[in-house]
Amino acid sequence: MGTFRAVVVEKGEGGQRVALQDFDESGLMDGDVTVRVTHSTLNYKDGLALTGKSPVVRRFPMIPGIDFAGTVESSSNREFKPGDAVILNGWGTGETHLGAYAEKSRVKGDWLIPLPDGMTAAQAMAIGTAGYTAMLALLALERHGLTPAQGPAVVTGAAGGVGSVAIALLAKAGWHVIASTGREEEADYLKGLGATEIIARQELSGQAKPLAKERWAAGIDSVGSATLANLLSMVKVRGAIAACGLAGGMDLPTSVAPFILRGAALLGIDSVMAPRALRQEAWGRLARDLDTGKLAAMTHTITLDEVIPAGAEILAGKVRGRTVVEIG
Ligand code: NDP
Repeated sequence: MGTFRAVVVEKGEGGQRVALQDFDESGLMDGDVTVRVTHSTLNYKDGLALTGKSPVVRRFPMIPGIDFAGTVESSSNREFKPGDAVILNGWGTGETHLGAYAEKSRVKGDWLIPLPDGMTAAQAMAIGTAGYTAMLALLALERHGLTPAQGPAVVTGAAGGVGSVAIALLAKAGWHVIASTGREEEADYLKGLGATEIIARQELSGQAKPLAKERWAAGIDSVGSATLANLLSMVKVRGAIAACGLAGGMDLPTSVAPFILRGAALLGIDSVMAPRALRQEAWGRLARDLDTGKLAAMTHTITLDEVIPAGAEILAGKVRGRTVVEIG
């Protein structure tokens, strides 16, 4: 057994410590597929794990990183063989199961899906869990029966990872997209992705009225708290908001008014435990619909050595779009 490079979180008397170090292969957890990881990404949840700001890590030592792309090295799972290109999102990796910021990972084959045809490992991780979650949100809005003919769609946390991909996907599907951001200077970037209108984050961060003027038929929200309450208060009759994030807080100071007076719906999005068939549908649609030029424009790349400080930056709202972590 050898060692491989990994970011490792340990808990000591002084709290959580995180370092890039050699990790003994014998420490890998149970699983029927071992993957040579080539790419991972930086998601908001990875920032929480790397900094210890929220109790995301629930086993020590932990290798953080909630998603990866790579090549199967060995497998006793009948669906995968050495050399297969695979991706993984969630299922507790980086939280309860050793995760993605490592040259190697051993996981359950049931957690893996094949890399979609025509997509590179780097592109898959430019999309990452943030982009796959944006697609789950779009699918939920469509399943609710909403179409661009019913009115605009709003995206909050617009310059972040989920927000950037959500804008590109909604625009491609024909929606008039209203992007809400705290970073005015990113207006051109957001318009380049497909936003038609830009609004200031503050417009949606005050205390929400039970009902306000109807503004959008659909929404994808990364922020939660008062922002989500305002989105709901401004939703058109029979519209829906897909809630996927908590960058602004975990609370939801709303009332029943949007639900009982406008028939509004709040659609919960959970990427971590989403069933495999839904994952495959989402990734298939991402491969088909996400413009690779826009994906490149929202992505920058760092190395495994740079991921620890990047964790604090994403929590500070300083990271634009998506970050690929090159590992292999
Ligand atoms: P990012 O940090 O890339 O994006 C979050 C964006 O939210 C920021 O870029 C910023 O956008 C905005 N923002 C940050 N802080 C605040 C604040 N205090 N108040 C209002 N807006 C704020 O993170 P991700 O896109 O990776 O994730 C977004 C959220 O979605 C996170 O909460 C994450 O945990 C959640 N998530 C949930 C998943 C699920 O399965 N449900 C899966 C993936 C992510 P701007 O500067 O444009 O305003």
